[in-house]
Amino acid sequence: MQIEIFCVVKNVAYECEPSSYSSEHDARGIYLTRVCDRCREAKLSTYRPEVLTNPRYQVDELIDGDDFPWS
Ligand SMILES: [Zn+2]
Repeated sequence: MQIEIFCVVKNVAYECEPSSYSSEHDARGIYLTRVCDRCREAKLSTYRPEVLTNPRYQVDELIDGDDFPWS
């Protein structure tokens, strides 16, 4: 029985190679996703370039103490 694994990136399906899977991390060392040789470029292109290269990239999520109900 053959297991076929596909990654779908931007509505394109990539036939993945489990043997070449590796974990991708951003410039801060935070785990992003699992990629194989075939879908690596496509997956990483979905991230902003600075996330991958600049450890001081701006985070979109609003981290603001004023939003906490107990503050
Ligand atoms: Zn893949």
